[in-house]
Amino acid sequence: MAKKNTFHFILLGHQGSGKGTQAKLLAQKFNLVHLEIGNILRTMVKTKSPLGRKVAQRIDQGKLVPFYMIVEIVKDKLKAISKNKGIVFDGTPRRMPEVAPLEKVLKKHGRQITHVFFIWISQRETIKRLSKRRSCEKCGTLFISGKTLSVRAIKCPKCQGKIIQREDDTPVSIRKRLIWSHQKTGPVIESYRRQGKLIEINGEQSIQKVFKDILSYL
Ligand SMILES: [Zn+2]
Repeated sequence: MAKKNTFHFILLGHQGSGKGTQAKLLAQKFNLVHLEIGNILRTMVKTKSPLGRKVAQRIDQGKLVPFYMIVEIVKDKLKAISKNKGIVFDGTPRRMPEVAPLEKVLKKHGRQITHVFFIWISQRETIKRLSKRRSCEKCGTLFISGKTLSVRAIKCPKCQGKIIQREDDTPVSIRKRLIWSHQKTGPVIESYRRQGKLIEINGEQSIQKVFKDILSYL
């Protein structure tokens, strides 16, 4: 059984909210496991395992990875996490059908969500932030054009790989994903709000200020 007071965080936020960054900071500060679904899926695709191939196929067809697969992945990961370590959930639950199974599997492992943070930003801010994202095709490093990477850079400063803007980060795709996000993740946010568990954090501040706001609740 995990220690009762071990932190288990859920970080919610629409695209570009910076929840991934905050999840990383929390994991570092409290020595927690950062369970990042997006990253796990990307790794699975690379391994070409049967499940990985299924995931890749869905993504190639522009489809979403079904919620039951996400639940399976979480179940599988939980088995490998040391009992005295807390967890930051980043990327799940994103849809209502993920909420109950997540709670159930946590309970089975003697774990319990301690805090649910919702990092909110406006749609305008989302588009502004995401359209500046660039990544290296070779090493996968993410950059912010004009901030961590020169606006005109075509090569990765780390590995000389090609700098690309992901299809996902063009304004049209961003809007599409935002609509999905509001339809699917909106109810998840609402359900935690109704349960009185939701802690809302203003994401339109510096990374340090957002983190300070989160820490003020712990
Ligand atoms: Zn690179």
